Amino acid sequence: MASGVVLFTRDLRVHDHPALAAAARTFGQVLPLFVYDREIFDGPYAAPNRVRFLLDSLDDLDSSLDGALLRRSGAVPAEAIRAAREANASAIFMSSDVSALAQRRERRLRRLCEEAGVQLRTFPGVTVVPPEALRPAGGDHFRVFTPYYRAWRQVLWRPVEKPVERIEAISGLRSAAPPEITGEPSPEGQRGGEAAGRQRMKGWLEKGLAAYAARHDDLAADATSRLSPYLHFGCLSALELAVRAAEQGGEEFVRQLSWRDFHHQVTHAFPAMSRDDYRRPRQWRHDEVALDAWKRGLTGVPIVDAGMRQLAREGWMHNRARLLVASFLTRRLAVDWRAGARHFLDLLADGDVANNSGNWQWVAGTGNDTRPNRVFNPIRQAHRFDPEGDYVRRYVPELESVEGGAVHEPWKLEPLLRRTLTYPDPIVSLA
Ligand SMILES: Cc1cc2nc3c(=O)[nH]c(=O)nc-3n(C[C@H](O)[C@H](O)[C@H](O)COP(=O)(O)OP(=O)(O)OC[C@H]3O[C@@H](n4cnc5c(N)ncnc54)[C@H](O)[C@@H]3O)c2cc1C
Repeated sequence: MASGVVLFTRDLRVHDHPALAAAARTFGQVLPLFVYDREIFDGPYAAPNRVRFLLDSLDDLDSSLDGALLRRSGAVPAEAIRAAREANASAIFMSSDVSALAQRRERRLRRLCEEAGVQLRTFPGVTVVPPEALRPAGGDHFRVFTPYYRAWRQVLWRPVEKPVERIEAISGLRSAAPPEITGEPSPEGQRGGEAAGRQRMKGWLEKGLAAYAARHDDLAADATSRLSPYLHFGCLSALELAVRAAEQGGEEFVRQLSWRDFHHQVTHAFPAMSRDDYRRPRQWRHDEVALDAWKRGLTGVPIVDAGMRQLAREGWMHNRARLLVASFLTRRLAVDWRAGARHFLDLLADGDVANNSGNWQWVAGTGNDTRPNRVFNPIRQAHRFDPEGDYVRRYVPELESVEGGAVHEPWKLEPLLRRTLTYPDPIVSLA
């Protein structure tokens, strides 16, 4: 009976999975495979929050596939070919991805497949619109968001695939043990998996989406979807989510998903995005003390410290807070965006080469912002997006006793009260 391998990477789901659906249609038997990539697990990017989320997601995928998921460990291309040989498979199907690592992986696998006489077929599945599908006149990718969004909204999206409910699996192959989680995941981190992701999506579409446009920037309201880690690991299809949100008139939310696609198409065209300035390099200061205070949420600027502590506690941070802490690090402290992006990747469950580097460069003025000199004033933003100070008090217990918006400027408090707070003065002038 003809058989094929489906190589999963960060598309850990059975709903709307073009590669899996095509394999189920094409082959009598399918071998679903995931490889713990040594390039990732032996390097600095195997952050505990993401490893835990990944392991949850693999367990969930395995149970959706009736225990058929084969897990191996090593170099992905070599392991995929090895599994194909063991299964006597004539082809490997996988989703294309954008990062430098993903592009290199696909190129190597293609070479090995050619040598081994195995067919490699790649499919969309990571973004709503594939990165190469949209091109501006005279360029290979969009550098500015608004025209991208216009084109993205007009192009025909592929239809959502039906979930693959059963495959004729190949049994008898031995899985590798999962890698150890080195380090402690965040105490209040989200758990992974397609089932958990779909449940959150359902709740979000029913109860959260309608108020998104009005409330997504309200820090204390916590009124965003928190679907980002599920999108990062592909437990949810970005396309399915965008289609369903668009059907309900959630255009502002759909626009955010377009930002995700935008950064993915930039990274696809410029795979050095996590390392090199996209345009306009800047001068940075080397300041380990300031960087350390920022990482620990001890800058003395409450809104910045609240964001950084949310990141440590939850492995996630509200988008408005991400903007403020990143602007503070790069514009006030003049510390290189790469140091901030690296710390985010150490903690974010949704930590993503394209979205993280794209947004960091946008804020730092080296990226795609059409106003590269934009600087966020953290105090003005704090009063605007956390007017009652509830977000700050939630994450900075030293300031719990300070009422209302006064919490954003503790240095202005009456001296007697100020002295009772064990909270530092700002490490930099905010004038
Ligand atoms: C400095 C900085 C670093 C960031 N790093 C990451 C990262 O590593 N991974 C990541 O997924 N997002 C990153 N973002 C984007 C954004 O902050 C998160 O996607 C969002 O906060 C996730 O929460 P949510 O799912 O509740 O978002 P929602 O507001 O509910 O939005 C829905 C989805 O749209 C996408 N999205 C929203 N805003 C953006 C954006 N600005 N850029 C790209 N996609 C977006 C995400 O997939 C998100 O899950 C970063 C933003 C900044 C400013």
